[in-house]
Amino acid sequence: MDFTAIDQQITALEQCLETTVEVDPNEELLVGVDLGTAYIVVVVLNGKKEPVACAMEFAQVVKDGLVVDYIGATRIVRKLVQELEERLGRPLTHAAIAVPPGTSENDCKTHRYVVEAAELEVTNILDEPTAANAVLGLQNGVIVDIGGGTTGLSVLEDGKVTYVADEATGGTHLTLVISGNYRVSFEEAEDLKKAKDRQKEILPVVRPVVQKMGTIVKDHIEGRDVSAVYLVGGTCCLKDIEKVMEKEIGVPVYKPANPFLVTPLGIALNC
Ligand code: ATP
Repeated sequence: MDFTAIDQQITALEQCLETTVEVDPNEELLVGVDLGTAYIVVVVLNGKKEPVACAMEFAQVVKDGLVVDYIGATRIVRKLVQELEERLGRPLTHAAIAVPPGTSENDCKTHRYVVEAAELEVTNILDEPTAANAVLGLQNGVIVDIGGGTTGLSVLEDGKVTYVADEATGGTHLTLVISGNYRVSFEEAEDLKKAKDRQKEILPVVRPVVQKMGTIVKDHIEGRDVSAVYLVGGTCCLKDIEKVMEKEIGVPVYKPANPFLVTPLGIALNC
């Protein structure tokens, strides 16, 4: 698969974490709010669906897709939305959100209330793989989303999600292994894991956990006609994770430029 166009869009979004693209005062803005286990990300696109601003914050207010700290989540979303409004010089009025597949109606409502508390009308509630696929545009294949807490996978057939699974091994587990190996705090290990100049050294340390993630995917796709696996989610930013996963799963594994931003971008595209 040719990722060139997708990578350009994601790289543009990554730049919007630092810089803000000017928008027309009357232009419609599309907003996506991603409430994750490790990060809350808010993405703003212009009327042409191009990234114009993005903000994020580390947060432990969601667990297994459920909001466990409503007040904390509300405070962070409000703060990120205010920051983006100041940067854009415009109020944001509506947003799309996403939840893990199989989230109950009540838990969807809680996600919605968090975003509504930031004075955004929620126009769409997607499931996360559908949001990721709004960017990837797959007809057939498997999207593997490795976030903070879990490795999730979604099988797509004819553009539709036909099977999902989610198991408790994610980026947090990598951080815990690094923390133990280097005898540093969780926070220091988290920084170490993300340091670009340390990634070569980190991969061998966390390889067994990454292999476990590969095994999770392999077990769930066994007996299915799967020709390729596509990686999204923050943990997939780890350099060469795709090589370890490919060896474990035994089918070609692809990852876009910044897997972390795929789902947040897809949410905004569906606003
Ligand atoms: P979940 O999908 O489990 O609800 P989430 O949506 O918060 O969680 P993501 O934001 O996709 O998950 O990913 C968060 C994880 O990605 C964290 O464990 C974080 O440490 C990890 N991560 C982020 N950037 C990098 C990086 N450059 N290298 C390695 N890991 C990273």
